[in-house]
Amino acid sequence: MAVLVKNATLVTAEEERPADVRCRNGRIAEVGRDLEPATGEQLLDGTGQLLLPGGVDPHVHMALPVAGTVSADDFESGSAAALAGGTTSIIDFVHPERGQDLLEALRARREEARRAAADYGFHMAITTWGDSTAEQMRQCLAAGVPSFKIYLAYKDTVGLDDRDVVEVFAAAAAIEALVLVHAEHGDMVEHLRDRLAAAGHTEPRFHAESRPSWLEGEATHRAATLAGTTGAALYVVHVTCRESLVAIEQARVAGWEVRGETCPQYLLLDDRVYETDDFEGAAYVIAPPIRPVGHQDALWQAIVAGTLEVVATDHCPFTMAQKELGRDDFRKIPGGAAGVEHRLALLHSQGVVTGRIDRRRFVDLVSTRPAQIFGLYPRKGAVQVGSDADLVLWDPAATATISAATHHHRTDRSLYEGFEVTGAATTVLAGGRVAFADGELRAEPGAGTFLERHPRRTS
Ligand code: MN
Repeated sequence: MAVLVKNATLVTAEEERPADVRCRNGRIAEVGRDLEPATGEQLLDGTGQLLLPGGVDPHVHMALPVAGTVSADDFESGSAAALAGGTTSIIDFVHPERGQDLLEALRARREEARRAAADYGFHMAITTWGDSTAEQMRQCLAAGVPSFKIYLAYKDTVGLDDRDVVEVFAAAAAIEALVLVHAEHGDMVEHLRDRLAAAGHTEPRFHAESRPSWLEGEATHRAATLAGTTGAALYVVHVTCRESLVAIEQARVAGWEVRGETCPQYLLLDDRVYETDDFEGAAYVIAPPIRPVGHQDALWQAIVAGTLEVVATDHCPFTMAQKELGRDDFRKIPGGAAGVEHRLALLHSQGVVTGRIDRRRFVDLVSTRPAQIFGLYPRKGAVQVGSDADLVLWDPAATATISAATHHHRTDRSLYEGFEVTGAATTVLAGGRVAFADGELRAEPGAGTFLERHPRRTS
């Protein structure tokens, strides 16, 4: 199957120029000017549009068991939503039971992902430390999973004590694997949650009060310091606040390989979303929580400065019926929200259209940089001969209003309900096949393949 994309402006992380792109057998076969269509080739006219490498979202949770329920998008629906918004690769997580063999957990998770319509990879969560964990981490590396996630919160389920955190960093440093960290001081968060609940403060807004920014900053500083001391490369997921930015900047000054990711919800929303007397605030119960006014500007400045290198989503939707589990106690609200479909449109609107970043940086933040950091480049994140034919025709002037009534996420709430965005994917090619065109999803369940990733130092 062959496709020729003509007359678009190619935008990559490095350059912006008119170029035609020919795709054959799922890969990019030719990039140049005035390419002639070959017999039987499907022609896509990109006049007036941009041509981008497909988005790479390295932080999503499809079908994640949380607090007695399971996140509402499975791999099929979640990857389809991703494709509709121009994201052609996702990296999800394996969360082994404590004591479970990591490779066994990976096999089971790969089975759950079989019907994904977009390409997918995994990070391996380390939820406990044992005598054979370091060896199992080595095996994960050989199985195409060269990145490991640790949680400094949630110690009752997946979180680690510092003693085990040090073990993970040392083991990761030995095999040049990357460690992702969820940075919040878990013990203090639990203390605050219980104290608030005991005082009768059970509404969703107290979720935010129980997880203040300085507890994220403390944990980011601690993770960066411990990783730096062992020589491990660290990637801080969902950075939300000034305190964490300071910690990352300090670590970089020390010469440590510490990177930061943020998400649209932390750039675009502030904690007034929790100021409702009804239960609607539950839709915004995510961790870390949406921060007070002021942190958002700091995050934008950190994007401009390069302290934050990736914009991901932490996509993990729940319906309001699922959020009802915490109707009487915010501690029982499943934490998470939808986002994978709207990442590019939101960042284009609020980053490029506003003039905060240029188009090349936009592509870098949503595609190229995550592909490089997570060992997928130049197969992903690039428009080069030999790269996968994951391409997005992007209309930079198209406008739309985000709503749960029209999104492809399998939930009845959107964090961005009523947001007007400028810029939209008009045609999305995944592996050389049209997965989305003219507002119509043509994603094929099972068309996505497991991405074997390789460790790659990028500093
Ligand atoms: Mn997450």
